[in-house]
Amino acid sequence: MSAITSAVSAAVSAVFRHEPNATPVDANERAKRLIDPGFGRVFTDHMALIRYSETKGWHDAQITARAPLSIDPASSVLHYAQEIFEGMKAYRLADGGTALFRPEANARRFNRSAQRMAMPEIPEALFLESIERLVRTDADWIPESDGGALYLRPFMFASEVFLGVKPSAEYLYMVLASSVGTYWKNGASTVSLWVSQDYTRAAPGGTGEAKCGGNYATSLVAQAEAIRRGYDQVVFLDARERKYVEELGGMNVFFVFDDGSIVTPPLTGTILPGITRDSILTLARAQGVDAREELYSIDQWRADATSGRLVEAFACGTAAVVTPIGKVASPEGEFTIGSGGPGQLTMRMHAALVAIQRGTAPDPHGWLRRLD
Ligand SMILES: *Cc1c(COP(=O)(O)O)cnc(C)c1O
Repeated sequence: MSAITSAVSAAVSAVFRHEPNATPVDANERAKRLIDPGFGRVFTDHMALIRYSETKGWHDAQITARAPLSIDPASSVLHYAQEIFEGMKAYRLADGGTALFRPEANARRFNRSAQRMAMPEIPEALFLESIERLVRTDADWIPESDGGALYLRPFMFASEVFLGVKPSAEYLYMVLASSVGTYWKNGASTVSLWVSQDYTRAAPGGTGEAKCGGNYATSLVAQAEAIRRGYDQVVFLDARERKYVEELGGMNVFFVFDDGSIVTPPLTGTILPGITRDSILTLARAQGVDAREELYSIDQWRADATSGRLVEAFACGTAAVVTPIGKVASPEGEFTIGSGGPGQLTMRMHAALVAIQRGTAPDPHGWLRRLD
């Protein structure tokens, strides 16, 4: 960290204001909500909020009661979608402590997304501080259940009241915390994929590698089509050739071969650089697995699954960690991956990652940031 960044963040941290929620959810009610929280529906008592303006820079940092916002209907985000977000988890460790998983990587990615969307960058230390303060404030909301965690959702949007098209002069940065259980109710069971023919997620030069709400907005119609056809998730092909597998709407993808090697599509600008993806590449390589970043076509996927050269495939991301892929379908027909159930390497990667996140395995890469 440069001296300037730390001076700025130190100055800001000095004015971080805490306004405790005057009517927090009582302990019994909270316990009830934490029994089966699902994903993204149970929220904690507080939120973090920091304002930005061109004239004042980052200011008015606070941890305050979670409450609806009142924003002007001409707020620029409502018209031109200048918005970015992040997703990360705080875990309860086996020793009773609390930790975040690679939050510095989220901070860096948030700022890369900000650059792409012509938004101001937030000092990394300030981003981390907002998250740590919120997790400390609402630590009682981390579910004790297996697979439970506190999902953190930092986001930033254009709040200038102006209908002209230009980068906003004002922004709101916020962090929400949501108690979550295991993402997929049916645990290690597989997901089925529909290969979108009519829609792409990201084109070269577009926003595919930025974590912005707009990418999700454009994926919804393709996701709805997958559901309508009886599949769980959509998988997108590259926009140029409609040939190479890119990723799901919100998860990266890995292929596992009979020689024990694994492949994931390379980060060429149209794929979201997942932190789970990067962690799996690192873990696999540390285990001596040949892990390659290579283009992989849908035709090759079908041929390899049919011949038995491809034995497993899985999707990965913070919310669901690792999800085995069971079958894949396109207008050319359906094919099954391996036995159609979760594969061995997939389960091994899932277990290795979860063990580090829960503090039940050593953390050789320094990925945990403990809060105690
Ligand atoms: C967030 C996201 C991922 C997964 O990233 P993680 O850092 O592993 O959670 C993958 N694809 C898309 C489109 C995403 O938005």
